[in-house]
This record gives sequence, structure tokens and C-alpha cells, in this order.
Amino acid sequence: MILTNIGTVKEILSRHGFSFSKGLGQNFIVNPDICPRIAENGNACKGFGVIEIGTGIGVLTSELAKRAEKVVAVEIDSRLLPILDETLADFDNVKIINEDVMKCDLRRVITDEFDGLRVAVCANLPYYITSPIIMMLLESRLPIESITVMVQKEAAQRLCAKVGTRDSGAITVGVNYYGTVKKLFDVSRGSFMPAPNVDSAVIRIDLGSGCRLDEKSEKFFFSVVKAGFSQRRKTLANSLASVMGIPKEKVYSALSSLGLPEAARIEQLDMEQLIAFSAALSDK
Ligand code: SAM
Repeated sequence: MILTNIGTVKEILSRHGFSFSKGLGQNFIVNPDICPRIAENGNACKGFGVIEIGTGIGVLTSELAKRAEKVVAVEIDSRLLPILDETLADFDNVKIINEDVMKCDLRRVITDEFDGLRVAVCANLPYYITSPIIMMLLESRLPIESITVMVQKEAAQRLCAKVGTRDSGAITVGVNYYGTVKKLFDVSRGSFMPAPNVDSAVIRIDLGSGCRLDEKSEKFFFSVVKAGFSQRRKTLANSLASVMGIPKEKVYSALSSLGLPEAARIEQLDMEQLIAFSAALSDK
């Protein structure tokens, strides 16, 4: 069954009485070039178990299952289950978990389902929760080697920006703290059914190469980062005073110990400076 053939997709969906849910970010891929490229660039290969988030009708799932040892796919919408029974009938290495990925115990999934395999995540993410899903995957420190995901083009720009530039955000710091990120390729809106109002891009995050602070310092670091970026146009002294209640004098003193001006804003600090600033601030 060719799941990128628009006629086939329409026939399956109408036979099952399925209507797209905008709220769940349901835009399914119908461009045949995209899913093989995600799978090939996303560690879907021998020796790997792949976690997919959001199956739709299984177009990416089947490309992953052709290449990886096993695929565990988490899909929130139970209306898709009978469709997946049909579209994935040829594969005996796919397990579907009907759950909200934000509530799913992925550590348990990895232990129970992947039996010593290396692990990667591949997905065409639902856009309404792109950042929470990526941050959850990073912060949970699961034994995952890579996260290869399609996101909105603007989100890809933010994720792949350089820390310390205007395009960066809290999530940019997050991915650079836990690993390295790069954009793989762009995907036009016409590659989906229904077509969204925005273009997309596929990015890959490789984990394991990032920084490692102790638990307390890490928590403080991310509080500072989130507070700073929540009011990114303000100076650090103003944003940290208003969000975290830190006296401005303390912020000035931490900044000056690093040779940074009192008027510094969070988007002007690179990764090294951010970590040093957070450490200096927690010592004050
Ligand atoms: N992988 C399919 C494809 O590429 O055609 C579908 C991608 S579609 C952009 C996103 C999918 O994620 C939908 O199937 C949607 O039902 C599912 N989804 C949305 N929110 C979810 C959540 N919180 N947990 C798990 N799946 C979710």
C-alpha cells in the first residue's frame, strides 16, 4: 500500500470515517521523498530501535520499520488505530502505544521494548507542542542517541540559531546544552495533506556531547535561561529581578565578574558566558 498516494489516503480515511483534527496538528505527509529521507538521516537502521511520536496513518512509521530493528510509535488519537492495523499489517516489528507522548513513560518503553538496542527518535511532530516535546526528550536524559524531527521552519531557525544571537531562544540553549543540532532539509507546505499555512524543515539533534552541570546548578541555569528569554528585550538585571526576584545588584556583580556590561541582555551571551554567568550569580 502506498501511503503517499493521495487517492489511496483519501480512500482509507473516508472508509474509516476519519476527519483531520487541527487541534492535534494532523497534517500527514504525502510527498514520497520525505519519509525515506527522515528515516535514512535519523538512525533508522540495523541495531536501532526507533521511537516515533505521532503516526498519522503510518507513512513515516512504515519507512522506519523497513530499516530499523523495531519501532515503537506513540499516537494520541485512538481513531487512527484501526487505520494503522490496516496500513502497517505487513510489519511485525511495530508497536503502537495509544497515549499522549507527554504522559508516556518513555524510559520504561525503552527498557521493555528495545532490549539492548541503540535508540533514536524520529517524527513529524505535531506543531502545537514542538518545543515541549523536544524539551521533555532533552530534559529526561533518556538513553537516546539522536532526535530527527520535522518542525515548522521558524522553529527550525530558532533551534539551529547560534546561542548569543537575536535568533536564539531558551530552546536553542536547551539543545546546545544537551547536544548538537543541525538543519537537514526544508519541506514545502504542499508536501502535506491538508497543507498547513507554513513551510517546514527537518532537523537532527545528536545527544550526549553537551554540557553536564550538577543537578542543582543545572536547575538554576535553566531557571535563569527561561526567565531571561521570557523577557528577552529587557536587560538581564530587569528580567531576573522581575521573574526570579533576584536583586539587580547581584546581577550587575555577576556580569561584571565576567567583564560583561550592566545592560547586557540574555540574547547577547554565548553558551560559555551563560554558564559562567549562572555560576557567578548562584555564588553571589
Ligand atoms: N507521522 C505522520 C505523518 O508524517 O504523516 C503524522 C504527523 S502529524 C504532523 C502529527 C501526529 O501526532 C498526528 O497523528 C497526531 O494525532 C499526533 N499527536 C498529536 N499530539 C500528540 C501527542 N500529544 N502525543 C502523541 N501523538 C500526538
